[in-house]
Amino acid sequence: MAEQIIPTSDTAQNSAAGTEVAALDVAVAGGSAKVNLLGLSEEKLIAFFATLGEPKFRAVQVLKWIHQLGADNFEDMSNVSKSLRAKLSECAEIRPPEVVKQLDSADGTRKFLIRVSGNNVVETVFIPDGDRGTLCVSSQVGCSLDCSFCATGKQGFNRDLTAAEIIGQVWIAAKSFGQLTMNGPRTVTNVVMMGMGEPLLNFDNVVDSMNLMMHDNAYGLSKRRVTLSTSGVVPQLDRLSQFTDACLAISLHAPNDELRNELVPINRKYPIAMLLDSATRYINAMPDTHRKITIEYTLIDQVNDRPHHAHELAVLLRDVPVKINLIPFNPFNLSNYKRASNNAIRKFQDILMEAGYITTVRTTRGDDIDAACGQLAGSVNDITKRSERHKARFEEAQPVKIIG
Ligand code: SF4
Repeated sequence: MAEQIIPTSDTAQNSAAGTEVAALDVAVAGGSAKVNLLGLSEEKLIAFFATLGEPKFRAVQVLKWIHQLGADNFEDMSNVSKSLRAKLSECAEIRPPEVVKQLDSADGTRKFLIRVSGNNVVETVFIPDGDRGTLCVSSQVGCSLDCSFCATGKQGFNRDLTAAEIIGQVWIAAKSFGQLTMNGPRTVTNVVMMGMGEPLLNFDNVVDSMNLMMHDNAYGLSKRRVTLSTSGVVPQLDRLSQFTDACLAISLHAPNDELRNELVPINRKYPIAMLLDSATRYINAMPDTHRKITIEYTLIDQVNDRPHHAHELAVLLRDVPVKINLIPFNPFNLSNYKRASNNAIRKFQDILMEAGYITTVRTTRGDDIDAACGQLAGSVNDITKRSERHKARFEEAQPVKIIG
C-alpha cells in the first residue's frame, strides 16, 4: 500500500539545520524573523525569554503548553499575560512540520509522512505493543552512510533535520492520539531514534530533542524508554555521555569486520572493536548499573544468517554487556537481499541463547504500509546523486526478461 508523495516547493522555509538557533539570534538582535519555539530546549527557551526581559518561569509555562498540552499558538496560553502573548506572537511561533499523510496498518502501526523544508518528506512510525507504544523517529533527510540493507540509505541524503523537525515528530504523533491534553492517554511510551538517518551525525539537534523527550516539563519519558541507535560514529559516541543518559543501541549486523565492511560501510573507518569499546565506555559512564547495550542484527538470507555467524557473534560479544535484537530483513525495491528463513532465524536465536544472551526476534509490523524496520524511505531531494547510481546499478543487475 505504498503511496507516492509528490513534494511541493517550500522555498519560504528552505532553511538548513540550526535554523532555530540562528533565528533566535535574529530575534535577539531585534530582527523580524520569528523564532520557532517548538525545538528549543528549556535552557534555550529561558535564554529566549531573557531577551524579552521575562523571568525563567515563563519558559517553563510555555514549554508545558507546547509539549504537554499541544499548543501551536500563544492565544491558548491562559496563564500567560495578554501583553506577553501579543509580544510572543510578533517575534515567535510554534511551527510543527506538516503531515502530508497518515497511514494506518491493519496491525495498529501508524506511519506519518512529514514534509520538511527543501522539498523533502521524512517518515515516522508508531508501533503499539500491549501497553507500550514505540515511536520510531527520523533524524536526517535520507542518510549519507549507505548501509547495503537499508531503504533510507538508497535514497541518498539531503540535510540534517532541525530540532523542531525531530521533536515535532513526537509532538505530531502524541497529538494524533489525544495525548497532549489534560489527563490525555500515555500512548507514546517509548521513543527510538531509529528512523531515517544516522542520529550521531546530527548530534546537537538529536541531543536537544532527546532531552526534551525525557524532560519532566515536556514529555517526561524515562531514560530507559528513549533509545539512540547508531551504526557507529565513534567520535560522536565518545562525546554522548556528557550530554544525555538515554539508552544505546548499536546497528551491528555482522560478527566480523570483513562482512560488516560490506553491510555497514562506516565500519571501514570505525571497525567493530573500536565501536564496542566506545559503546561500553558510554554504558559505564551512566550512573545506574545493569545497563545493557542493545545489539541490532538484521538477518539476511545466506549473507549473515548462518550458524557460524551466530557462534562468531557469541564470541565477539562475550565481554560486552548486551542484549540482542534479531531483525528479519524486510525487502524493499532496489534490494536483492532476501529475508532469512524462519528456520534460520530460530537456529540463530537458539545459538545465542545457549551462549547466555538475552535474544529477542523483532516481529515485523506495518508491512502493509511499508513501515517495517529498514523500509523507511520518504522522499529525499538527494544532493549526493547516490540514489540515481543505486537505481542504475540495480536495473543493470536485473536478469533480462524474455518476452513471448
Ligand atoms: S541503517 Fe541507519 S545509518 Fe545505515 S543507511 Fe540506514 S539510516 Fe543510515
